[in-house]
Amino acid sequence: MSEKDTGKKNASVVTRFAPSPTGFMHVGGVRTALFAWLWARKNNGIFILRIEDTDKEREVEGSIEHIIESLKWLGLDFDYGPEKDGPNAPYIQSERLEIYKKYAQTLIEKGFAYADPYTGDEVEKFRKAAEENKKPFLYREHRPKTFEVWDGAKPLRFKTPEIKSYKWNDLVQGDLSAGPEALDDFILIKSDGFPTYNFAHIVDDIEMQVTHVVRGQEFISSTPKYLSVYEALGVTPPLYASMPHIMATGGNKKLSKRDGAKDILDYKKEGYLAETMINYLAFLGFNPGGEREIFTPEELIKVFELNRIQRSGAKWNDEKLDWFNKEHIKLLPKEEIEKNILEWLPPEMKNPKIIPVILERISKWSDITNMVGAGELDFFFKAPEYAKEKLIYKNSSLEKITGNLKSAIKALESLSENNFTVENIKTELMKIADSLDNRGELLHPVRFALSGLDKSPDPFVIASILGKNETLSRLQKAIT
Ligand code: GLU
Repeated sequence: MSEKDTGKKNASVVTRFAPSPTGFMHVGGVRTALFAWLWARKNNGIFILRIEDTDKEREVEGSIEHIIESLKWLGLDFDYGPEKDGPNAPYIQSERLEIYKKYAQTLIEKGFAYADPYTGDEVEKFRKAAEENKKPFLYREHRPKTFEVWDGAKPLRFKTPEIKSYKWNDLVQGDLSAGPEALDDFILIKSDGFPTYNFAHIVDDIEMQVTHVVRGQEFISSTPKYLSVYEALGVTPPLYASMPHIMATGGNKKLSKRDGAKDILDYKKEGYLAETMINYLAFLGFNPGGEREIFTPEELIKVFELNRIQRSGAKWNDEKLDWFNKEHIKLLPKEEIEKNILEWLPPEMKNPKIIPVILERISKWSDITNMVGAGELDFFFKAPEYAKEKLIYKNSSLEKITGNLKSAIKALESLSENNFTVENIKTELMKIADSLDNRGELLHPVRFALSGLDKSPDPFVIASILGKNETLSRLQKAIT
C-alpha cells in the first residue's frame, strides 16, 4: 500500500472511529473503537476520531465531550480528531459541509446526482403503492427522465450508475455478495443542507485516506450502495471489517439498554479498571488463540488480528467481566490497590489494616460500598452485639464453649502486642482447637465473639487486625 500523506510516516493503515453524538457510549461502540485503535496501533498507523453529527435531531448536547472523555479514560488515544486537529481538520462533520458539497458537485457533473423532484408526500405514495403490490420500494424506478438544476432547496439524490450485483470481501465476515435489489438512488444531501450518513462517511473516508473501515455489521446491507458511490467517483473503496453484534446474556438478541447495556463511563463509576474494559471488550469476539485471557492493552496490540475476530455475536457476561477485573486489580502496584481501597472507604473506616480482607472479597471498587452498606465491615470498628446462644457450636454446650474461650484468652495473653500476628495467633489457637473433639468448638465462638458473623474472614486475621487489647476485650465480653 502506498505511503499516506497524513503527516505521519508510513501510515499504510488508517482507521477511524466515527460515532454519532447521541449521548451514550454503548459498549458495542466502544468495542468497535477499540478494534479500530488496536489495528492502527499494531500497524504503527493512524487512528482518527470523527464526529458524525449530520442528523441534528438525534444529537444530544455534551456528547462530544462524553465521547472524548470515554476514549481518554480507556487510553484509546486518537491521532487526529476534535481537540487534536490534523491534516483533514475539522473532524466534526457539521463543520465540513463545503467538502460534501464539492463532492456532490463532482457527482452532478458526472451525471450521477440529481435534484429529487418529488415532495415527501409523493415519495410516500410510491412507497405505499409498492407495498400494496408486495414489491420492495425502489426510488430508482421513479427516477425523473430529465434532471433539473440542483439549487439546494430539494434533496440531492445519487443516480446509481449501474444496476448490478456486487461481491466484496469483508475482513471479518468473509466473502459477501448482494443482488441488484440492494442498489437504489439514495439521498446524498438533504434539503436542510446536511449530507446523509451514507454520503458523508464516504467523502470523509476518502479525504482522510482511511484504509480499514471498522464498524458494526448493521452497515453490511448498505455496502453495495456505498460501493456504487466509490465507483461513480472513480475511487477504490477501503477494506471493510464488520463487527458482529454483542449479544444479551440470556437468549439470542442484541445487547440493548433494556438488557442492561450501560454507558462505558458507568463502568468507570462502578470502579472497573480501564484495562479490564479493554481486555474484556477485546475478548468479546476476538481471541488470539491459546488459553491465556488476561492481557494488558500493550500485549493486546501485539497479538491483535482483524481476521481473528469471530463472525457471530459474543454474549455479554457480567460475571466474566468481574473476573477480568479481579485479575486486572491483581496486576496493579500494591500502593495503587491500597490507595483505591482507602478512597472507596468512608472516612471513619479508612484503616489500612483491613485492606487485605477487602481485597480478597471484591472484584471492583464499588463492591466496597456494598460491603460497607451491608454492615459487613462494622465489626472492625465496634464490638458486635449478639445473643449468647449464637456462640454455641452445633450440639456443644455453653459451659464447654465458655471453657474454650477462657483457654483462648489465656493463650493469647501470652503473646506480646508486637507478636500479635496472624501466624502466632493461629499457632496458639490451633494448639487448643486440635486438642478438642472438634475444632469448631473453639474456632466458631472465637470468630463469633470477634465479628458477630457466621461468615467472616478467618478469626486469626480478624484478631490481628483488632489488636491484642480489643481481641481480649471481645473474648472477655463473650464469657461474661
Ligand atoms: N456514525 C455511525 C454510527 O454511529 C458510524 C458508522 C461508521 O463507522 O461508518 O453508527
